[in-house]
Amino acid sequence: MILRKTIAGQLLQLLALIIIHASCHTLTSAKTVNPGGGELQQQPQLEQQQPIQGLPEPRAYMPDSQNLDFVYHDHEELTRFLRATSARYPNLTALYSIGKSIQGRDLWVMVVSSSPYEHMIGKPDVKYVGNIHGNEPVGREMLLHLIQYFVTSYSSDQYVKWLLDNTRIHILPTMNPDGYAVSKEGTCDGGQGRYNARGFDLNRNFPDYFKQNNKRGQPETDAVKDWISKIQFVLSGSLHGGALVASYPYDNTPNSRLLKGICRSSALCAMFQTYSAAPSLTPDDDVLKHLSLVYARNHAKMSRGVACKSATPAFENGITNGAAWYPLTGGMQDYNYVWYGCMEITLEISCCKFPPAYELKKYWEDNQLSLIKFLAEAHRGVQGFVFDPAGMPIERASIKIKGRDVGFQTTKYGEFWRILLPGYYKAEVFAEGFAPREVEFVIVEQHPTLLNVTLQSSKPYLVASSVASSVTTAKTRRVNDKLQLAAD
Ligand SMILES: [Zn+2]
Repeated sequence: MILRKTIAGQLLQLLALIIIHASCHTLTSAKTVNPGGGELQQQPQLEQQQPIQGLPEPRAYMPDSQNLDFVYHDHEELTRFLRATSARYPNLTALYSIGKSIQGRDLWVMVVSSSPYEHMIGKPDVKYVGNIHGNEPVGREMLLHLIQYFVTSYSSDQYVKWLLDNTRIHILPTMNPDGYAVSKEGTCDGGQGRYNARGFDLNRNFPDYFKQNNKRGQPETDAVKDWISKIQFVLSGSLHGGALVASYPYDNTPNSRLLKGICRSSALCAMFQTYSAAPSLTPDDDVLKHLSLVYARNHAKMSRGVACKSATPAFENGITNGAAWYPLTGGMQDYNYVWYGCMEITLEISCCKFPPAYELKKYWEDNQLSLIKFLAEAHRGVQGFVFDPAGMPIERASIKIKGRDVGFQTTKYGEFWRILLPGYYKAEVFAEGFAPREVEFVIVEQHPTLLNVTLQSSKPYLVASSVASSVTTAKTRRVNDKLQLAAD
């Protein structure tokens, strides 16, 4: 059995190499370009990366209490830390704000990368979002320590250097600073500080794939929507507290109406949900489960699946489908996935929502490896470019992996990424004015498959029918689904 697996693995590798050599232009000058910058002067090229599997595990973080203590930081202290870090490490960090909360607090994002100010062509952007619920601030503090860990380990840790050289990591430590400001340390349950300053739950405030979300869009949500519409994030984690589990899309289900108005707090509701919740699986269920397992297994205890309290569920291997736990409308992870093809999962990292500060060091120790290794998963699967016959990149080409009916699009540089597990795949590539194309490829465990696709111009009389019938972006699909529902 083992022998057969090995031969199959070798065959997959061999096939991948053949396909890579047949379809990829290997390397030379992967030029960096400002995302807002000018035209590309040359066809971008990918270098075969050194496989991350060959690197030693990331080293343990050496906390430096002079720069960042294991305490909770209020908004002013958080701002001071981010500013000081970006001043001290200008080659590794860039600080920007994606907008302001209702009470005027900046929604800071720290980029950590060896190319912090410019998108590196062919290299993925990934993100973490913390504290979307104001009273769940462990993630907020973990993300500050993650920033500190990256900048202090870059020159001494091969794994961190590889990650920062090949990935642009965007970290939003707090999406709900106003909620945090009215939260109380030591409060393990309850809703005080969960909501934004107008009383909206930000993780119920996004457009929803399954159900019309009538909640008025909040500034914090709008800032995030705008942010992810501009940067093509490949992978994302949203950090929460109140449970210990990695939860993956979908969070909502076509049957969610049955559960309308039901909360998670009362025992009756919890019981009702246990019996009515059912998995709501995406076509990328294998990938999303895998990503959740990467987090849970690298965590000190998550994968043991121990319940936080006797009345709360125990999750097998520390992971769950979101809707199978409890369905919700307007969540951020479904929006990331359906609208932009970004693989986002929800990381519940503390049983107590707002534990005392003296426990933060332990939380860091528990989550450190998970937080790092999860991001490296952006380098699994397929990546490449879509070109026109003249070798120029095609922006907003739509790509769909056959059998996985959630599409994604190329960036303005024609780049694309998709996290996939080892196997054989077919991609369907469409762009307005070009003949659609199907491309076969193989994914292996050891390194991402590099795939460049050149589309030929379609004959004028074919344009309308081929493109119109084939393009499947999240938005068109959603409209189609709605029409379908209406027809039913
Ligand atoms: Zn939460």
